[in-house]
Amino acid sequence: MAGIEVTALHKRYPDGTVAVDRVDLSVGDGELFVMLGPSGCGKTTTLRAMAGLERQTSGDIRIGSTLVNDLPPAERDIAMVFQFYALYPHLRTRDNLAFPLRAEGLPEKEVRARVDEAARMMQLGPLLDRRPSRLSGGEQQRVALARALVRRPRAFLMDEPLTNLDAELRADMRTEIKHLQAELGTTMVYVTHDQVEAMSLGHRIAILNKGRVEQVGTPLEVYDRPASLFCAAFIGSPPMNLLPVEVAEGALRGTGGLSLVPPAGVPRGRPLVAGVRPEALEVTAPGEERSVPARVVSAETLGDEIIYVLSSGGRDVRVRMPPTSRFGPDAPVGLRHTGGPPPVYDPTTEELVA
Ligand code: ATP
Repeated sequence: MAGIEVTALHKRYPDGTVAVDRVDLSVGDGELFVMLGPSGCGKTTTLRAMAGLERQTSGDIRIGSTLVNDLPPAERDIAMVFQFYALYPHLRTRDNLAFPLRAEGLPEKEVRARVDEAARMMQLGPLLDRRPSRLSGGEQQRVALARALVRRPRAFLMDEPLTNLDAELRADMRTEIKHLQAELGTTMVYVTHDQVEAMSLGHRIAILNKGRVEQVGTPLEVYDRPASLFCAAFIGSPPMNLLPVEVAEGALRGTGGLSLVPPAGVPRGRPLVAGVRPEALEVTAPGEERSVPARVVSAETLGDEIIYVLSSGGRDVRVRMPPTSRFGPDAPVGLRHTGGPPPVYDPTTEELVA
């Protein structure tokens, strides 16, 4: 097993596109590390460079203590799983699993033992004699995962492996991958654009934007203190409210007079933006203490919660409330902040300042 170190990784495609812009990443040995970001942010290019499928323009990649820049994929001792299952259509499951081991020239007895073990871990017993055309999408992806397992690589690299599965199956497979990684303790780098997947899987998450790393942190860290306005808008569903605020008389005041707890060290005398989670606000009856006047624009009932959009001080603000709350459309209400100090951003640099 091994950690992965990426240093000043830069990738410029021949057409001039800079896909990865001096990225540094440090993936711990045994860590499940997620790279998250919108389409085109450079996740896949970074992962393919780790795998050796793409040559970087500059920068270094180390797997364990080995500098792998010049090593072909087969010599990097990693296994990659893609969005598309890439199984051999003419081979039965057991031969699809055995394929990479036979290619390595392992004795047939060892091949059989490893195939049996992987089949047991991924519960593929009943599917071993079927060809891919007789497997469902979820089953094919389990075979693809098992084929990565049999090689016992130093690290797994996964590129949106669950994208083609329906929502329920995706949730099941997510749990399976998480258990598998914990059981094997093998380093895993997992690429996704789905923040729910990232939050539920990752020990740590790197958020990428336009070829750069915006933040690396645990799911809680990136949720509680997004490092930039980009991260603040990207993580969370519904996303954070980004409210213009300024420091006045020791308090943090939003438009419409909303009062927020100021974080330590918040700069004074200039416009700022506070990131306020919908669950750090509440809808009250009009005129309640510390509330500001607001009006209900819409209410979306999601079963276990209601997401209100209120209009207050000329802005729309999202508020998460329990399903028992009852505020009708257009009703005059109050809006109150109930959370602790919010993260505060500089609107010009878009970076976290307090
Ligand atoms: P997605 O989630 O859509 O796969 P991504 O975050 O994985 O996106 P990459 O596939 O790494 O992003 O692409 C990063 C940038 O590089 C994009 O702007 C993309 O258009 C560009 N790019 C990718 N491959 C090539 C190529 N072969 N030639 C030129 N530009 C490319």
